[in-house]
Amino acid sequence: MTDTAETKEYILEKDCELRFEIESKTQIIVELKSGFAELYGTELVKAKKYTFLQGAKVAVFSYQGCVILLTGEPDVCYIARETPMIQYLNTHSAIEQMRAKAEERESQGPIVMIVGPTDVGKSTVCRILLNYAVRLGHRPIFTDLDVGQGNLCVPGSISSLLIERPASIEEGFAQIAPLVVHYGHKSPDANNEFYKSCISTLADITIERLKEDKRTMASGIIINTCGWIKGQGYQNIKDAANAFQVGIIIVLDQERLYNELLRDIDSSCKVVFLPKSGGVVERSQQIRAESRDLRIREYFYGSRSPLYPHSIDIKWSDMKLYKIGAPALPDSCMPLGMKATDNMTKLWPIQTGPSLVHHLLALSFAETAEQDVLKKNILGYVCVTNVDVDRQTITVLSPQPRPLPNVVMLLSELQFIDSH
Ligand code: ATP
Repeated sequence: MTDTAETKEYILEKDCELRFEIESKTQIIVELKSGFAELYGTELVKAKKYTFLQGAKVAVFSYQGCVILLTGEPDVCYIARETPMIQYLNTHSAIEQMRAKAEERESQGPIVMIVGPTDVGKSTVCRILLNYAVRLGHRPIFTDLDVGQGNLCVPGSISSLLIERPASIEEGFAQIAPLVVHYGHKSPDANNEFYKSCISTLADITIERLKEDKRTMASGIIINTCGWIKGQGYQNIKDAANAFQVGIIIVLDQERLYNELLRDIDSSCKVVFLPKSGGVVERSQQIRAESRDLRIREYFYGSRSPLYPHSIDIKWSDMKLYKIGAPALPDSCMPLGMKATDNMTKLWPIQTGPSLVHHLLALSFAETAEQDVLKKNILGYVCVTNVDVDRQTITVLSPQPRPLPNVVMLLSELQFIDSH
């Protein structure tokens, strides 16, 4: 940013929102001059400068009114008077009452799942509800079932994260030790049978984690889902609600989905409709692909606080590499008692070779394929940066400095070209 970048003052009346988008390669600095304001549930500190970079889509909301200073030139910038924030706050209050009851009775707090089509602000509503919860001293779990974007790990995985403090304004939630389950594709329909099994694995380990700590147990879980809501996608929503024993489903924007769920979901689960914010921005396939790539880059290299990944060589002969699922055979060709779909949730050993280059590999905690690898969370991911056929080795980019333990590796369809 040049020193000459212009600073403009925006006066927000109460319940108004300043929205801006940065499409070009520029940065915008936001400062709260007076009053109170928050960004997706995190309070802005007065006189502190927050920097937003290309690709940011931002909404600074104020319940009481405030003055904001904005330096730089966003591509879109306006004040919105109509926002659903009061409805989101009321929903938080209802969830809060359930937490208070759970604390009193030392029982399990609310398990809330946010559903809706793509680009309706599901991730943003999760962030707002989680921030409001931690601001009141709770320690909820955030579960992300969206394999396409992978908010908590890399795309192609689903995860749960304990939230102990509000999201940073610029960087989101601190991603310390999430529980990650490897899936390996960027959309659930690539192997829906296995996606279902991943959801039930993550549900089991998340609920186990929930019960480890009294405060977390009463705080409950907020679950984000992907935008696939028709056909098998709808069935996945119902399966996830069952697996996580969801007590409240929040449907964003789609009355049809809301009515279908009211009809089909057990009456012990409340289904609530909430409007989407007019500020939520639609993202094209290309932007989604770019943000997937960015998530993987950040996993290895960090974003504002840089990370320094390690380059490690592994001999082919030391690798135990598998993929999940084999082409389906007709049921009549399967051994007695097995269905063709069983193939899709099994480990299949694969040979190391040049085709592995750029692929992500999940590192399991297990040392042999017999150890129920797919019913557990994983250690993390590495990315294959080189395959040396002569030396029969591969080179991987790894967040961990140690030589890789002698573990089972699982191939992901997702690729990352390391240009560092
Ligand atoms: P997906 O289809 O990937 O699941 P989603 O429904 O989870 O998307 P979000 O990721 O929450 O949607 O929102 C899409 C984009 O809109 C994000 O970049 C987010 O920062 C932006 N956004 C959300 N709410 C607002 C708002 N009130 N004003 C401006 N931008 C917003």
